[in-house]
Amino acid sequence: MNYITEKVREIPVKESCDVLVAGGGIAGISAALAAAREGAKVTLIEREYTLGGLATLGLIAIYLPLCDGKGRQVSFGIAEELMRLSIRYGTERREDTPAMKAWLSDEIDINKRKKYRFEAQYNPHTFAIECEQMLVKLGVKIIYGTVAVATETDNGKITHVVIENKSGRSAIAVKSVVDATGDADICKVSGAATELFKKGNSLASWYYYFKSGKVRLRLLGAIDDPNNPDQEGKLSDRKFSGVDGDELSEMTILAHAEMLKDIDSRRKDNPEYVPVCLPTIPQLRTTRRIVGITTSEIDDMHKRVESSIGMVGDWRKRGPVYELPFEILYGKEVKNLITAGRCISATDEMVEVTRVIPACAVTGQAAGIAAVMTDDFASIDVSELQKKLVASGVKLHEDELK
Ligand SMILES: Cc1cc2nc3c(=O)[nH]c(=O)nc-3n(C[C@H](O)[C@H](O)[C@H](O)COP(=O)(O)OP(=O)(O)OC[C@H]3O[C@@H](n4cnc5c(N)ncnc54)[C@H](O)[C@@H]3O)c2cc1C
Repeated sequence: MNYITEKVREIPVKESCDVLVAGGGIAGISAALAAAREGAKVTLIEREYTLGGLATLGLIAIYLPLCDGKGRQVSFGIAEELMRLSIRYGTERREDTPAMKAWLSDEIDINKRKKYRFEAQYNPHTFAIECEQMLVKLGVKIIYGTVAVATETDNGKITHVVIENKSGRSAIAVKSVVDATGDADICKVSGAATELFKKGNSLASWYYYFKSGKVRLRLLGAIDDPNNPDQEGKLSDRKFSGVDGDELSEMTILAHAEMLKDIDSRRKDNPEYVPVCLPTIPQLRTTRRIVGITTSEIDDMHKRVESSIGMVGDWRKRGPVYELPFEILYGKEVKNLITAGRCISATDEMVEVTRVIPACAVTGQAAGIAAVMTDDFASIDVSELQKKLVASGVKLHEDELK
């Protein structure tokens, strides 16, 4: 391969903030929301021109359960707030079902709740706008169409995040940074230890179509089948790491081709069958993540975690409850960098639990509050963080559940 050497160039430091959130998916939205509510000056950098990441632009519009499948809600705070916001314009599926009635009612009837999971299919478009409005009202500065590409560090701390957009390259001076890019991009460019998901990603091609006066989600490829987890409704044998530019373009083109094939085959029976919305970001389950001080593991279920920042259930089965330790959010190399969402520290097996929407909101909320409290995560007083989380509605331990 040939190389060129870029010329050293000065770039303007255009602004400063207390907390820079890189990535505006569910994790980034939650982190920005939590940090802004703590009174911080927050800047959110998003590569696309809409918030929500996979949960909106990726058309992954099923808000997986906030409960343990045994009638107990386990994820609270912003995880619940965003679920309720996502269905403010109604659910797209399971609407008016006994399930939603059982869970949305203020009256807790555990026998009714036991029967159903607390989950919903929402409209991604209204949800994205709702999230944007909420953050703007709180004073979060959202910078769209912008990629966080590099960092400057001094003494183990990020001092500036370098961004690129239509205006060119510039820098933002920061106190602390939340990496909510889904791919641990900031960890990677700052020298934090990271690892890749070993199994790779299957080809997914989910899209919306119009049928009988209703918009519906077509789940094509990468559908989890608990009885056959390696198949995932397979479209192709190829696996994708999700962190290679060429490969991502190939994946996108393949996904589009599969979609067209599917549309053509469905049009044979129904000539009026048309797609109405395509995903505009690659549908990747898990890619690169931080190597944290602690790594969350699948066998950690029902364990009491003293540094818990909130709980999640396992969307695939009823019963498990996980208390998530604060130490899975940050590593030892970069003092003022914390992660949230898909790129927190979890084993390949556990990522299946932590990568979904409720867990992204739980970790985002904790990361956002922590980022306001300190620029050195190893030295934070976790009990103070927990007090703030509890004050904002989060439950930390399984023994507190009703
Ligand atoms: C096929 C498939 C099916 C799924 N099904 C479900 C489901 O039914 N229910 C469920 O709950 N979950 C599901 N998931 C998982 C879930 O949708 C995601 O894991 C979750 O939404 C991830 O949120 P996040 O905020 O961590 O990351 P993302 O949604 O990936 O958000 C990251 C954001 O950061 C931006 N970004 C990335 N890099 C940069 C950068 N360098 N600079 C600036 N911005 C950047 C991206 O544009 C994006 O908006 C599914 C995922 C897939 C792929």
